Amino acid sequence: MSLVADTLAAPQRAMAPIVPARAAAKPSLVGATRGELAEALAAIGVPQREIRMRVTQLWHWIYHHGIRDFAAMLNMSKHLRAALAERYSLERPQIVTEQLSTDGTRKWLIRMPQLDTSDRGAEIECVYIPESDRGTLCVSSQVGCTLTCTFCHTGTQRLVRNLTTAEIAAQLIIARDRLGDFPGLARPDDGLVPAGEGVRAISNIVFMGMGEPLYNFDNVRDAIEIMSDGDGLSLSKRRITVSTSGVVPEIPRLGQESGAMLAISLHAVRDDLRNTLVPLNKKYPLADLLEACRTYPGASNARRITFEYVMLKGVNDSPAEARELVRLLKRIPAKINLIPFNPWPGTKYHCSDWDVIERFSDIVFNAGYASPVRTPRGRDILAACGQLKSETEKVRARARMIGEG
Ligand code: SAH
Ligand code: SF4
Repeated sequence: MSLVADTLAAPQRAMAPIVPARAAAKPSLVGATRGELAEALAAIGVPQREIRMRVTQLWHWIYHHGIRDFAAMLNMSKHLRAALAERYSLERPQIVTEQLSTDGTRKWLIRMPQLDTSDRGAEIECVYIPESDRGTLCVSSQVGCTLTCTFCHTGTQRLVRNLTTAEIAAQLIIARDRLGDFPGLARPDDGLVPAGEGVRAISNIVFMGMGEPLYNFDNVRDAIEIMSDGDGLSLSKRRITVSTSGVVPEIPRLGQESGAMLAISLHAVRDDLRNTLVPLNKKYPLADLLEACRTYPGASNARRITFEYVMLKGVNDSPAEARELVRLLKRIPAKINLIPFNPWPGTKYHCSDWDVIERFSDIVFNAGYASPVRTPRGRDILAACGQLKSETEKVRARARMIGEG
């Protein structure tokens, strides 16, 4: 078993040419909702009375088995399999690069097929983090982000669009392909992915990749339905967490319409500081955000809201701020997650010193909160929280710098 940071055998880390991905020749059914599968079947002439049954079959093959070829769908007639294959594909979005960190974290740069001629090519990153008791997939909801949190690398990316439902769901499918997490597939042979009878490589999903999920609410909600459907990908909704920087009007909808767990990127306990760190705070200040949490549908001591707090040296890490954090969260069923700041090229922030993080954590712990400090994972491949940014953007930025230099 090699623990050396390296790329995997295939696909290689080769830099992608900076051209938009071409539109796929045939539309892919991977990531389709049940309604879309029904439409696709109707379009090739499947009689109305059969559609429900055929949707169930297709669903099971695509999402439970992860099948990549219509020919393998043996409970369908040869004629139907051929008709499906002629009109549709089961292609996944393209993996441009795959990187493996020394700690087992994997990062994929994924290029989505062009949606239409105005689409300038969407690339996103998706990260897998194995731990002793779980495997977490960190998915993106947008290409880049329209918000401009000052400590976040994604916020500096200019190219932005919402991902479709299929593009969000496809991240889980690609990760399952690569991790051997569909029935009959083998795990990678590096020993870095949890294995064993009935052990799922991916047990949890967090919407903590690129983008603000609540600015793409409908697609995120529908993708969560696909990911949690018991006849397919089958992830428990209690193990799917949506992280928001605080889009207050959409928070109740998340509880009502999706049943996923909620995480709030708090990062500051005063409006003046939060206005700088998370500029969306000017629109939805702390009092409104905390009120939305207090009334969040479905929150309870068994289903706590996670509050994320990035530790920025000399900015938000004093003991007084730790005490204020505890005061603010009174009467909210909360968990607190302290995140050491992950640096990225060009940032003005530094991560708090370890003893400062410990002091902060002790205050929160003594007030009765488990306050795990999130171990930074995959820093060597820029896969940690807030470090994601598409390779195309990075290459463009480098090209600009060289041009300017
Ligand atoms: N847009 C959403 C989800 C993506 S960001 C949100 O902001 O919640 C996921 C988490 O990473 C957020 O808590 C975010 O504040 C945090 N984060 C961003 N940049 C970071 C960095 N450089 N170091 C540590 N955490 C960071
Ligand atoms: Fe966007 Fe979240 Fe980064 Fe803020 S922290 S810029 S909301 S991705």
